[in-house]
Amino acid sequence: MVDVADAIVIGAGVHGASVAFHLAERGLRPVVLERSTAASGATGRSSGLVRMHYDVEADARLALGSYHYFRSWAERVGGDAGFVRTGFLQLVPQEELEALRANVAMLNRVGIVTELLDARQLAELVPGIALDGFTLAAWEPDSGYADPTTTTTSLLAAAVAAGARLVQNAPVTAVRTEGGRVIGVDTPRGSWDAAIVIDAAGAWAGRVAAMVGLELPIVVWRHDVAYVRRPDDVPAHPAMIDFANAFYIRPEGANLTLIGLEDGNELADDPDRPVDAAAPGFVERAAERLCIRLPAFATAGLQSAHSGQDGITPDQHPIIGPAGPEGFYLDCGFSGTGFKISPAVGRGLAELILDGETTGADLHPYRFERFAEQDPVRGEHPYAPVWR
Ligand SMILES: Cc1cc2nc3c(=O)[nH]c(=O)nc-3n(C[C@H](O)[C@H](O)[C@H](O)COP(=O)(O)OP(=O)(O)OC[C@H]3O[C@@H](n4cnc5c(N)ncnc54)[C@H](O)[C@@H]3O)c2cc1C
Repeated sequence: MVDVADAIVIGAGVHGASVAFHLAERGLRPVVLERSTAASGATGRSSGLVRMHYDVEADARLALGSYHYFRSWAERVGGDAGFVRTGFLQLVPQEELEALRANVAMLNRVGIVTELLDARQLAELVPGIALDGFTLAAWEPDSGYADPTTTTTSLLAAAVAAGARLVQNAPVTAVRTEGGRVIGVDTPRGSWDAAIVIDAAGAWAGRVAAMVGLELPIVVWRHDVAYVRRPDDVPAHPAMIDFANAFYIRPEGANLTLIGLEDGNELADDPDRPVDAAAPGFVERAAERLCIRLPAFATAGLQSAHSGQDGITPDQHPIIGPAGPEGFYLDCGFSGTGFKISPAVGRGLAELILDGETTGADLHPYRFERFAEQDPVRGEHPYAPVWR
């Protein structure tokens, strides 16, 4: 039996959910096909940081556009995204201070509320922080974190309320084409016909694109995180990325801290590897790194650790827009930082599909062709690549 939809979204992670929501809001009736369950990929394992500090202006604009959603989720989408405003600190090594200054100026120009803090201000904000040689940080008072799973499920619920369908446990096994354009997809649970097919399959996106003969420059990026219980005398801290020590943290609830590392993130080909456990040695490395910057965590206790996988591209930026047969769109390659920009990306892609152009977001930098054109996404004042 063949069903018919206005558009087919492959993958019910936060990006599939967002583009489905925005298409449904514009009056389409898309179907979202998910191989497992909603948010079972990178999204459900994401650290959920919502910050706007970037060294690429287009990224910052997507983050700001998305922040407007997170800040007023119930009115804009409905339901809850679990957004918690903690403030966000960006720390960089001494050799990147000039880039930090320039990027804060760029972010201010874009309309993001952010300022530079000196060591004294930083010590007031984060008591006990070890500052050895450290002079400046960027501070974003409005940022924080959100819950990626509820973000996704509320987008899906709103999409369904507007006419979309969600079919879980339905892996797409083939994308059908005819005369150079997509016409539908097959799953073990049935086939769907549509003139629009969106590849939002996260770490599996390369496999889906191969179904239409497209080779994507995407590999599988693996990332471990741990939750630690803060010692009673350590107060809650803001969300923070510390490039100098290659880690990030954010609080979780009343007394947990989540930590992830920017180095040692394994690259591989297999998106199906088990991700329930963090890699051996990760917790020890994370604890050591955390205690360099916040020595009072020496008596913190491990709560849990897990892993997750996303698709990563050579310039660590997503691929968004048409590619391959007519009607086929890429919405993937989010390279470990895609959660926070998902609302604006979904809106922009829906506009690109329906109107051929975007109003808020500039998605041109993320086009598939940039790899062949050797025009990678890169900031004017770039920091060293994050996932080393
Ligand atoms: C541990 C971890 C921490 C992170 N922390 C942050 C953070 O703090 N902030 C941030 O902004 N980003 C973060 N990220 C990145 C962010 O979570 C991802 O970029 C984002 O969730 C990707 O969403 P997605 O919808 O593209 O992919 P996914 O969430 O992986 O969704 C893709 C979906 O497609 C489905 N699928 C695959 N193949 C098929 C098929 N053939 N048919 C049907 N369905 C299919 C999968 O089952 C999956 O559910 C983190 C990622 C990880 C792994």
